Amino acid sequence: MTLHLYDTLHRTKRAFEPRDPDRVTLYVCGPTVYDFAHIGNARPPVVFDVLVRLLRRRYGANSVIYARNVTDVDDKINQKAMKEGVVISEITHRYEAAYLADMKALNVSPPDIAPHVTDHIEAIVSQIQKIVDAGCAYAAEGHVLFDVSSYPAYGALSGRNLDDMIAGARVEVAPYKKNAHDFVLWKPSKEGEPSWPSPWGEGRPGWHIECSAMIEETLGLPIDIHGGGIDLVFPHHENEIAQGVCAHGHAHADAAPEEYSRYWMHNGFLTVDAEKMSKSVGNVLLLHDLVQHFPGEVVRWALLSAHYRQPLDWNQSLLEQSRKNLDRLYGVLRDADAALAGYEAEGLGDAEFGDAEMRAAELELAEADLAPVLDALEDDLNTPEAVARLFALGNAVRDALNDAEGDLRDLALARGTLLEAAGLLGVLQTAPEEWFEGGDPALKAEVEALLAERVEARAAKNWAEADRIRDRLTELNVVVMDGPTGATWRVKG
Ligand code: AMP
Ligand code: ZN
Repeated sequence: MTLHLYDTLHRTKRAFEPRDPDRVTLYVCGPTVYDFAHIGNARPPVVFDVLVRLLRRRYGANSVIYARNVTDVDDKINQKAMKEGVVISEITHRYEAAYLADMKALNVSPPDIAPHVTDHIEAIVSQIQKIVDAGCAYAAEGHVLFDVSSYPAYGALSGRNLDDMIAGARVEVAPYKKNAHDFVLWKPSKEGEPSWPSPWGEGRPGWHIECSAMIEETLGLPIDIHGGGIDLVFPHHENEIAQGVCAHGHAHADAAPEEYSRYWMHNGFLTVDAEKMSKSVGNVLLLHDLVQHFPGEVVRWALLSAHYRQPLDWNQSLLEQSRKNLDRLYGVLRDADAALAGYEAEGLGDAEFGDAEMRAAELELAEADLAPVLDALEDDLNTPEAVARLFALGNAVRDALNDAEGDLRDLALARGTLLEAAGLLGVLQTAPEEWFEGGDPALKAEVEALLAERVEARAAKNWAEADRIRDRLTELNVVVMDGPTGATWRVKG
């Protein structure tokens, strides 16, 4: 199957063909680092992380270049620094570090490039200059504004017509603007705000220009895929196209938006308990808090449970269901690991692993088993379908475990296929034991000591002591499962 992606610009699913399969380029608008990220902010990085995993599998790990920027120049950042009485870099460093920690908890692989606005001011100024030289922007009162009437394809991405936009404009129009929808490329800074020299005076860039300038500088034009949340289609991405295309002197009637990015992908919005997240409603869920209470993989699974273009409603039952689903797959893995313990150590595989023909046949089988998951993902990242097919692979591992006549090699292969498929979704990345134990070493030490004491208490028929141990385990929110090879335990969900 070929990879098909829904392209916002063409409003249809299209077969993906990179400009150069040895250098596939992707850019996703990243965070503005002035506060902790909320759960909605996690949807784009998680969705595009799955896309990047898929692209790397298809084109090769080193043939994909993924850039996700960091917006470290912004009014909200200035205000926060002012409010706390600290320097701006303290705010940006603090929240970038928090963002990266959240991303790590969600198994989001770091992008190849993370350009920061403050490191690219020269490129931004030079792109603005090119746009001015192309006759698509004008300087006025210390500002530089993009002249939207200079780019005929303006509105193509969002499907807006400039005349309608003008007729419906309610925006307060600054006197120095030629058209109400002209947007800022450069503006003067107020006292105490960061500023840089430019041909138009001391100031700082507007928001939209940072992405087009950093894309041009770090990836080169046109890029293959540009992504972000649906709210960025207009005006942010519409403006990026206008800037990117005009900077290249293509501001003529037939200048295609594809000269900037060949495919555009946007994720739908996330609501919380069917409401828009907002500070005034008080329902803003910070990632930082969520990952204290749930493993990051549960949050990631929940984010991937709906198709990325659909809205996703976040609620407690989604989280609980996600945890249950992961528990089920981790349970299969734990049993497979137990059955396979010592498998390779016994040398069972040695002779067979050395057999190239058999290995090739096995690989072919594994590929065939993996195909349904890959096909679902290659169909415009259909993660709900991929997840359903992941369960089928989990069932295959269970069947191999239950098959009294099956050999361990079949089990090992089924397990490997499940893990490979899960790797595309970025889940099942923890050792099963660790998963069930909740990843807290102090808890693990206490529970294991209690379980050892329990064995002794039982042997000594000291029921009072055994009860005390049981109560303490309940207090610790731990469930113990007695099995033929001893007790295993897990933290209650
Ligand atoms: P912001 O910090 O608001 O610029 O948002 C950063 C990224 O998160 C952008 O790509 C937004 O489109 C995305 N985003 C913000 N809120 C939500 C939400 N509720 N659901 C999905 N994506 C969101
Ligand atoms: Zn952007």
